[in-house]
Amino acid sequence: MKYQRSSALFREAQKVIPGGVNSPVRAFKSVGGDPVFVAKAKGAYIYDVDGNKLIDYINSWGPMILGHAHEPVVNAVVEKAQKGTSFGMPTEIETEIAALAVSMVPNIDKIRFVNSGTEACMSAVRLARGFTGKDKIIKFAGCYHGHSDSFLIQAGSGAITFGAPNSPGVTAGTAKDTLLATYNDLGHVKAVIEANKNEIACIILEPVAGNMGCIPPAEGFLEGLRELCDKNDILLIFDEVMTGFRLAPGGAQELFGVDADIVTFGKVIGGGLPVGAFAAREEIMNYLAPIGPVYQAGTLSGNPLAMAAGLAMLKELNENRAVFNSINKKTEYLHNGLQAALTAENVKFTINRVGSMISVHFSEESVTDFTSAVHANNENFKTFFHGLLDEGVYIAPSAFETWFICDALSYEDLDATIAACKKVASTLN
Ligand code: PMP
Repeated sequence: MKYQRSSALFREAQKVIPGGVNSPVRAFKSVGGDPVFVAKAKGAYIYDVDGNKLIDYINSWGPMILGHAHEPVVNAVVEKAQKGTSFGMPTEIETEIAALAVSMVPNIDKIRFVNSGTEACMSAVRLARGFTGKDKIIKFAGCYHGHSDSFLIQAGSGAITFGAPNSPGVTAGTAKDTLLATYNDLGHVKAVIEANKNEIACIILEPVAGNMGCIPPAEGFLEGLRELCDKNDILLIFDEVMTGFRLAPGGAQELFGVDADIVTFGKVIGGGLPVGAFAAREEIMNYLAPIGPVYQAGTLSGNPLAMAAGLAMLKELNENRAVFNSINKKTEYLHNGLQAALTAENVKFTINRVGSMISVHFSEESVTDFTSAVHANNENFKTFFHGLLDEGVYIAPSAFETWFICDALSYEDLDATIAACKKVASTLN
């Protein structure tokens, strides 16, 4: 594959955009080399500016669950755009998508739309603090909830990829209200709660972690957190920015049968446009302005183009629930193929998977939390990433990210990917 034009565009971009990108993980910094510039995408494929065709396992970091440029979504956006792109006034489609989301997701009565997953999580925490009258929050090392100050404490995703899980610019005052716990370690959570009695507003977590690679919740972990929250008057926030409308129509709450108090969304709910949302039972959501005291707002929130894309996406997922089974089956097929390919080449690896989220860590030990994720062999990951890219397979340029499977992938694409993995695996340590 040739990437001259991408590299030339990257040099230009770096002159006027910090690091040449508008979000750090895009920069290939941890795997080395220049990022690929996209010309267009359709279905399961990215077409770059040098004319390369790549099988895409990022899918815009999750939203494109039905593939790129999915026609019903594109048509809905085009049609809406012709009627005006933003009003800052209520529109009927906001109620339509809200009603559909509330009907698909268990245990929520009301939902508010924002513009990103970051905003959704930031607002959810403010709401939890306002509702409980308490200040502290518990988050898990390696979980990522966006780049708002309270969350950049041992954060996963790009924050850890670039060695800045605790970002400068976050004040000590803010940091002291974020308590850290170890993912999948209920005993640790219990100890943190005991040490901060009656001070904790909420526990926020990714019910399946996707920002330290994919890490499933251990048996009983989510149930145990629910119980601890109930006993201690703490709200449980599921950050379903990745898992929402992906693992099941009702997300992780439905898949695991555990109720959260507040749920946050992003990615799929916006069909590829900038959308986030947070939702809860009525009693909690009514704490929000304009009917309650907790302030939260947005000039472009509920934007008609974004709502049109999100509604087209959710409608299709709601009406064609076989999609969830289809992507799970495809991911399972990929899992089995990768497992066989890496085993045949004597590579030390661990594959974690839940539904259509999957990742490979180059480590023999099971990867269950931040510490075990960090211990994996990153040199092997770099070789693996670039090897796959050369073979026309595009995975996230960091080991601290899940892969996202979309339904546009064919079994031929999966076979080609598995064959590429086998070839690249033979070059690993
Ligand atoms: N929560 C989770 C679980 C995420 O994965 C992300 C982004 N990858 C966010 C929150 C932040 O979303 P955004 O990038 O849309 O602000």
